[in-house]
Amino acid sequence: MSKYVVRVLGSGGEVGRASILVRRYGEKNGVLLDAGVNFDEEDRPVFAATYPPKYVDSILISHAHLDHIGTAPLYFISGSPKVYATRPTKQMAKLMLEDFLKLNGYYSPYEHREVKAFLENTETIRYGQKILVSDGIEAEFYSAGHIPGSVLTVLNIDGARIAFTGDINTIETKLMKPAHIDLVGRVDLLITEATYGASHHPPRENAEKRLLSIIEETIDKKGTVLIPAFSIARGQEMMMILAEHDPGVPVYVDGMIRQMTEIFLENSEYINNPHLLRKAYENFNIVRGWRDRNRAWKKPSVIIASAGMLKGGPSLYYLKRIGRNPRNAVVMVSFQAPGSPGRRILEEGLMPDTEEPVKARVEWLDFSSHGDQRSLLEIVEKLKPSKLMIVHSEPDVASTFAEVVREKELVEEVIIAENDKEYTFEH
Ligand SMILES: [Zn+2]
Ligand SMILES: [Zn+2]
Repeated sequence: MSKYVVRVLGSGGEVGRASILVRRYGEKNGVLLDAGVNFDEEDRPVFAATYPPKYVDSILISHAHLDHIGTAPLYFISGSPKVYATRPTKQMAKLMLEDFLKLNGYYSPYEHREVKAFLENTETIRYGQKILVSDGIEAEFYSAGHIPGSVLTVLNIDGARIAFTGDINTIETKLMKPAHIDLVGRVDLLITEATYGASHHPPRENAEKRLLSIIEETIDKKGTVLIPAFSIARGQEMMMILAEHDPGVPVYVDGMIRQMTEIFLENSEYINNPHLLRKAYENFNIVRGWRDRNRAWKKPSVIIASAGMLKGGPSLYYLKRIGRNPRNAVVMVSFQAPGSPGRRILEEGLMPDTEEPVKARVEWLDFSSHGDQRSLLEIVEKLKPSKLMIVHSEPDVASTFAEVVREKELVEEVIIAENDKEYTFEH
C-alpha cells in the first residue's frame, strides 16, 4: 500500500511554470519535479509557488527551458537541496539562468550566487539510471524526445509508480529521437503535460517542404529569409534541414543558438543525427560580431537567429533591416505567445516599437516540439495509469483532453490540476 501527496505549485491550468512537489503521506520532506517561471503580458517573470526549502530533499529537472527551471535557484537562498539533471540540461541551464538574470535581474528574488549554488548542487543523471532522491523515494529517468537532455521521470514510492512527462514529444524530428515511452512500463499515476491536448500537428514533412519552398521563392527574387528561432532545439533543427537541402546562398546562424549547438555537439548521444548538425555547424557562417551581422542581411541569404518570438536579440535586429522590403521573407517556426512581438507581426503586420507596416512576406510554420492529442493519448495507452493528472495546459485545452480520455475510458480518474492544491493518492 502506498499513500502519497502531490502538491501543484505551478503549471495547473497554465502552459509552463512547471513545479510539482511529491511526498509520502505524513512526511514533510519530499521531491520537487521542476521549478519553472512564466512571463506576464508585460514580460515580467511570474515565479512558481514554493515549498519550504528545508523540506525539499531533491529537485529533479526535466529539461532546460525556463518554464521548468526559472524558479529553481530560489531554493538556494536558504536551502541546499540536491538537484538532478542530464549533462546537456545542466550545461544549458547555466546559460539560460544567466541570460534570465541579465534580462530580469530587477524582478528576481535570487541572484548569481544562487544560480551558482544550484549548478554546484546539480548531479548529472543518465537515461535508465535509478537514484534514491528522498527517504523511500526512488527516481528513474527516460528520454522525453522534447529537446536534447529532456527526461520523463518515474518516482517509486512504496511500490507505486508516478510518472511525470515534463514536456514530451513522441515523433521523430531531424534533431530528436521520439520519447522512449516503450521502456517506461505501467504506472499508477501519470502527471502529463497537455500543451496541445486539443489539437493535431500537421505532418513534420509538410512544414519542412513549406519552409524549403518559401526559401526558394525568396531567393529567386534575390531576397533574404529570416528564420527567428528558439536557441534550444528549434534553431538547430532549422540548421539541419538546411544542411540537408542546400539553399544555394550563404546561411548565417546568429545568437545563443551557437552556444547551444556547441553543447549539443558535445553531448551527441542526446541527439538524433549528430553528423548532420556538425555539418551545418562547420559549413554555415556563425555570426560572431557586429561586422558579420551587418554583412549577413545585405545579400540574398538565409539567417537563422534567436530570439524565436522576436523579443530582442539578433532576430529583432535583422527584422528591422529586412522587414521593409517585400522581396524578403520572415518565417516564424517557433511558438508565438500572445502579446509577443512575433504574434503581433502575424496578427497585425506591424513592426515592434515603430508600428511601421512589415512589407516582407511573413509566414508561420508548425514545428512544435510537444506531442499533440494523438501522441498524448498514445502515451496514456502505453503507460496505462489508473489515474491521470493534467498539467502544463490552458484550462479549455485541459478539459477537452480530459473529456477525450474519459470517453475512451482509458483511466479510472482524470484530474485537471489546479495551482496551490494538494492531492492525496492511495494505490
Ligand atoms: Zn514547458
Ligand atoms: Zn519545454
